Formats: sequence, C-alpha cells, structure tokens
Amino acid sequence: MGKVISIANQKGGVGKTTTSVNLGACLAYIGKKVLLVDTDPQGNATSGAGIDKGEVQQCIYDVLVEDANIKEVIRATAVDGLYSVPATIQLAGAEIELVPTISREVRLKRAISAIKDDYDYIIIDCPPSLGLLTLNALTASDAVIIPVQCEYYALEGLSQLLSTVRLVQKHLNHNLMIDGVLLTMLDARTNLGLQVIEEVKKYFRDKVYRTIIPRNIRLSEAPSHGQPIILYDPKSRGAEVYLDLAKEVAANG
Ligand code: ADP
Ligand code: MG
Repeated sequence: MGKVISIANQKGGVGKTTTSVNLGACLAYIGKKVLLVDTDPQGNATSGAGIDKGEVQQCIYDVLVEDANIKEVIRATAVDGLYSVPATIQLAGAEIELVPTISREVRLKRAISAIKDDYDYIIIDCPPSLGLLTLNALTASDAVIIPVQCEYYALEGLSQLLSTVRLVQKHLNHNLMIDGVLLTMLDARTNLGLQVIEEVKKYFRDKVYRTIIPRNIRLSEAPSHGQPIILYDPKSRGAEVYLDLAKEVAANG
C-alpha cells in the first residue's frame, strides 16, 4: 500500500514545490514508484516535472470538481518511475466551487484510494493556503512534511498550520502524522541559519529531518528547464541532498 505524503505550509516560497518535485524524483531514482499530485493552481510542480501545462487536457481540477477518473489524468514524466497528476490555472476555481459540494474535504482521498496500491509513494504539493485544497491533501495523506525556510520568522504561521493538522486529525483523518519538518534554503555562511535550526529543533525535536536543504543555485535553475535536479544536474549539491532526503523518508516507511 502506497504512502501518501503532503508537502504543506501556507507560507509561500518555503520550498514546498522544490521539495515535492525533487523528493518525488529522488524516491523514483532509488527505485520507488512515485505519483506527484499537484494541488496548487500555479502548477509549478507540473511544469517542474517537465509537463507542458498548455498541453494538459484534464487536470486535478477535473478529478476534484468533475469526478473525472484520476487514472485518466496521470502522465508519465521524463524520470523513470515518476508520474504526475498535473494542475493548471483552472484549479484556481476549485477552492470556491468545492464549497457547496458534498464531502468537499474527502474528494482527493477518494480519488487517491483507487490508485494507492499502484504506487510506493504519492506526494502531494500543496498551495500556499489552508483552504479546501490543502484540507483535501491533508485528509488524503498518511503523513505531512512541513518545509521551513531558514530565515527570519521561520516559525511564524506554524502554529496555525499545526492547529489545522490537529483539526484534520480530529475530524477528517485520524491517521495523519507529521512525518517531519524539513529545513530548507539554508545559507550556512550566516549565523541566522544556524539560529533557526536551533530554534526549530528545540520546538520539533526528533521530528526534524537530519537532512537540511542548503541554498543551491542549481535547484533554482532546474524548474525553468522542466527537470528535477536529478536530471538537470545529478552531480550538484542539490541532487545530493534531495537524494539523502529520499533515503531518510524511505527509511521512515
Ligand atoms: P513554495 O512551493 O513553498 O512556494 P518553491 O519550492 O517554489 O516554494 O521555492 C520558492 C523559490 O525558491 C523558487 O524560485 C525555488 O526555485 C527557490 N528555491 C527553493 N528551494 C531552493 C534551494 N534549496 N536553493 C535555492 N533556491 C531554492
Ligand atoms: Mg509551490
């Protein structure tokens, strides 16, 4: 049975999409079968995995709102073993269109349950909000990974995210676990980064991944080439650390 993992934080620019694409690709690289589900209307995890959004006929919107069969939306990517459920800007409407619908929080869970056995990991890239799309992702998930940027105010907003996770655990999904907090975009030359690491570890203790993602220019270049780092520059530090993270995540089950 596949493990479903949401990559969530309502703050934008903390490394959710970079982590979704590259953790997904690296899990595939170490031999797992992975489905990358994009639930952000920006569709960055879609294009980052090499899928041309202009050519997408059906996307996650059709699954969530139109009850399309998720199997018909899945695309292969250039990475062996990595598949994608794309998102296009059409998804922007879903946040509002889902409001009056029945079982609006469990639509993604239902869709994924039909294909859970076909994959080792299903990685869901969340949008930067705590709206219905993120609720659908958390409700469908066994675990959540919370990327935290090694910057000022790193912990800001996290209590809101954690109380959302608790509400989902209580009312929608008893099985949801926080798999871990991932420190991202560390600039090791500054004291600030090290202070943030200390602070986050004090708060989350053993929930913080050993792997810390440094700032790496190749990681920021890869999306414009539509390639996960493992294809764009497999020898880069960025590829190395996301491979480490994939092994750490796989070791957690
Ligand atoms: P989110 O999905 O949380 O909004 P992104 O993954 O899109 O965040 O990252 C925000 C920006 O930072 C993007 O331009 C991305 O390429 C860049 N970025 C993310 N992680 C790194 C990193 N480790 N090193 C350098 N740039 C990064
Ligand atoms: Mg994103």
